[in-house]
Amino acid sequence: MAPTRVKKFVTKDLTVRAAAVNATAVVEEMRSIQNSYPVPTVAVGRSMVASLLMAAHLKNNQELSIYIQGSGPLASVFAQASFEGKVRGVSSSPQLEVPVATDKILLAPAIGIGLITVTHHLPNSHTPHRGTVELASSEIGDDVAYYLQQSHQIPSVVSLGVHVNSYGKVEAAGGVLIELMPGHEESTALKIEERVKKARPVSNRLLEGATAEDLVRDLLQDFELIELDHEHDVEYKCRCSKERVMRSVGLLGLAELDEMIEKQETTDVSCEFCGRQYKLSVDDLKEVRQDVYKESLN
Ligand SMILES: [Zn+2]
Repeated sequence: MAPTRVKKFVTKDLTVRAAAVNATAVVEEMRSIQNSYPVPTVAVGRSMVASLLMAAHLKNNQELSIYIQGSGPLASVFAQASFEGKVRGVSSSPQLEVPVATDKILLAPAIGIGLITVTHHLPNSHTPHRGTVELASSEIGDDVAYYLQQSHQIPSVVSLGVHVNSYGKVEAAGGVLIELMPGHEESTALKIEERVKKARPVSNRLLEGATAEDLVRDLLQDFELIELDHEHDVEYKCRCSKERVMRSVGLLGLAELDEMIEKQETTDVSCEFCGRQYKLSVDDLKEVRQDVYKESLN
């Protein structure tokens, strides 16, 4: 498959900006690495698409993550993307089975009520910018739009779509983000609203062969558009390391670590995002234990 990119546009008067992507390949890659079931696949997929679209408006070397915490059985969903199009995602239960009544997968019953946190990481800075709002619908698109309104006073349209076939494979994944910038005319908002009402679901459009640019033009056909350069291929990429994996093993707690050390065996740990295998020796585990113990004293 040809590499895919986030397409970015602004209207000629610069009061509306748009980003869209066909992310089918990276969402399917996530699904196949994690062997995730339909509902977690759709939840992580939509979050990956939203993070890619928002990250495309950042600057070089900046990243953005979306973290959803809900009261439902799919307790958390996380996705992270960089300006350069590197994306990854995971949920708390990739193999969660939720009965799906219709053709259309609804996330609200799985996620429940809760919070969405968007974190903007700047390079060389230890204090990322973080904003949290309540979930509006738990379908992710509306939740991101609500976050943009509440935290940045930006009215937006966030249409996300992930379609899985009867074998659970991702056949279409993508989305479009339209943002109304300060100084926009009221008539601009009304025109977009009308187009949104008539628009068909993103996943259907992608299955029909629509491109990222088509998704933007569906909603902004009343405006003259200027395409902005964004020369970065979208790629499923994890930057896990042995250190990070050791830190996550530390979360198991002292009792569990002691049990592992007692066995005197090398422990295999795989990264939940990308499946990469790490071997932790007994000495590694002892080091983790020491760190956890030190922290427990603080
Ligand atoms: Zn990884």
